[in-house]
Amino acid sequence: MKVSVIGTGYVGLVSGTCLAEAGHDVTCVDIDDNKIKQLRAGKSPIFEPGLTELLRKNITAGRLSFTTELRDVLGSKAVFFALPTPPGGDGQADLSYVIKVAEDISPIVDDYTVFINKSTVPVGTASKIASVIEKGAHVSFDVVSNPEFLREGFAVHDFMNPDRIVVGTSSSQARGVLEEIYKPFIVSGAEFIVMDEASSEMTKYAANTFLAMKISFMNEIANLSDLVGANVDNVRQGIGADERIGRRFLNAGIGYGGSCFPKDVLALDKVARMYDYDFKILNAVMEVNARQKRILVDRIVERYGENLKNKTFAIWGLAFKPDTDDIREAPSIEIIHELIGRGAKLRVYDPEAIDNVQKLIGDIVQYAPSAHDALETADGLIIVTEWQEFSAIEPDLLAKKLKDKTVFDGRNIFDIKEMKDADIEYVSIGRNARREF
Ligand code: NAD
Repeated sequence: MKVSVIGTGYVGLVSGTCLAEAGHDVTCVDIDDNKIKQLRAGKSPIFEPGLTELLRKNITAGRLSFTTELRDVLGSKAVFFALPTPPGGDGQADLSYVIKVAEDISPIVDDYTVFINKSTVPVGTASKIASVIEKGAHVSFDVVSNPEFLREGFAVHDFMNPDRIVVGTSSSQARGVLEEIYKPFIVSGAEFIVMDEASSEMTKYAANTFLAMKISFMNEIANLSDLVGANVDNVRQGIGADERIGRRFLNAGIGYGGSCFPKDVLALDKVARMYDYDFKILNAVMEVNARQKRILVDRIVERYGENLKNKTFAIWGLAFKPDTDDIREAPSIEIIHELIGRGAKLRVYDPEAIDNVQKLIGDIVQYAPSAHDALETADGLIIVTEWQEFSAIEPDLLAKKLKDKTVFDGRNIFDIKEMKDADIEYVSIGRNARREF
C-alpha cells in the first residue's frame, strides 16, 4: 500500500522504515531539511540498533523515500502522524504540531484517506483532528488513533514484533485499511485490538503511566531497602518471579527520563485535573521520580560535602537509557548541572549521546572518547546509564585509576562483593551497599 508518515523522528522514522520493510511503499515527510538530506543519503539522524541497515535496504529497494514537501503524500491511502506532542506551558500535551499538519494536509488529499495518529495525545484528539481536516478537505476521510508502544533502543525490534496493535476507530472502512497495513505483523502473531478512539488514546497514557509507576514503586522499595538492610536485587528477583508482577521494569535506579514517561505522566495528570479528578498515584509517581533523579547527587554530597571544587568525577552514560542517543529528560543533565554548580570538574563519556549533550550544554564538561579515558585524573566515578560495555570493566582497574576509589552507581551494574574486594567505596541503589553487608 502507498502510505505516508508525517514527522520523521524516533517514531516516524522507525515506523516508516519498518512499514517499508513490511512491503509498503512509504513516503516520509519532515520539515527539517537537514534531516531529510541525511536520510536521502542513507544516514540515520538517530542511533537505534538495526535502523541504518533497514533504512538503506529499503531506500535501495525503492520502497522508502524522504521529502520536505507535504504535497508528496498525494496518492497515499493512509497518512500517519508521528509528530511531537511536548508538554505545553501548563503541562498539557501541546497539540499545535498535530493540528498544523491536519490543517495543511486537508486540502492536499484528493481521494478517501485514513489519517492515523501515532502521536501520544489526550482523549478527544482524534475528533479534534477530524474537525480540522473536515474544514479543508474535499474528499471523505477517517481519523484513527493508533498509539505507538515501541521502546527507544529496541524500536526496530518492537515495531517489527509488536505484542499488540491498538486501533481506535468506529469506521469499518478505516479498520480494513489498518488491517491491510498491519497484515504482515498480524500474521506473525501480533494481537490486533480494535476499540473506540477515546479508549485507544487512553490506552497509550495508561500503558506509559503504569510503567512509570512500576519504576517509581521499585525505587521506593530500593530506598527503603537501603534503610532497613535489604538488597533490592534480591527483592526484585523474589517479586519478579510472580507472573502477576512480571520481571520487567523492576530495576531500581535514578528515575525514569526520556521523551515519553515524564511528559505523559504530567499530561494525564492535567487531563484528570480538567475533569476535577484527583489522580493521587500520578502525583506520587512524579514526586518520587523527581527525588530519585537527585539521589546520586545527594550521595556524593553526603560523601564529599557541598564544596566539590577540588574534585574531578568521571561520568559514564549520558543517554536517558542504553542503546539510544536520546537525552531528552535524561537524569545525566540534571546531575551534571548540580555537580558543576558545586564546582566539580567532570569527564563524561557515552557511546552515542555525546554530540547531543555537547549541543545542549556546550563545553562545561570534558568529553572523553572512551569509558577508560573518562577515568583519567578522576577522583570518583558516577554511573548514570547502564550501557553494556561498562559492566565489562574490571573493578581492579577502577581501583587503580580512581584517586579516591569511590563509585556512585545509579544503575547497580557492579557486584557489591567484587567492588568490596577491590577496595572500592561503592554506593549503589537499594542494595545496602553503604553498610557492611
Ligand atoms: P521527535 O521529536 O523525535 O520527532 C518528531 C518529528 O516531527 C521531528 O523530526 C520534527 O522535525 C517533525 N515535525 C515537526 N513538525 C512537523 C511538520 N509540520 N511537518 C512534518 N514534520 C514535522 O518525536 P518522537 O519521539 O518521534 O515522538 C513523536 C510522538 O510519538 C510523540 O507524541 C511521542 O509522545 C510519541 N511516542 C514517542 C515514542 C518514543 O519512544 N520516542 C514512543 C511512543 C510514542
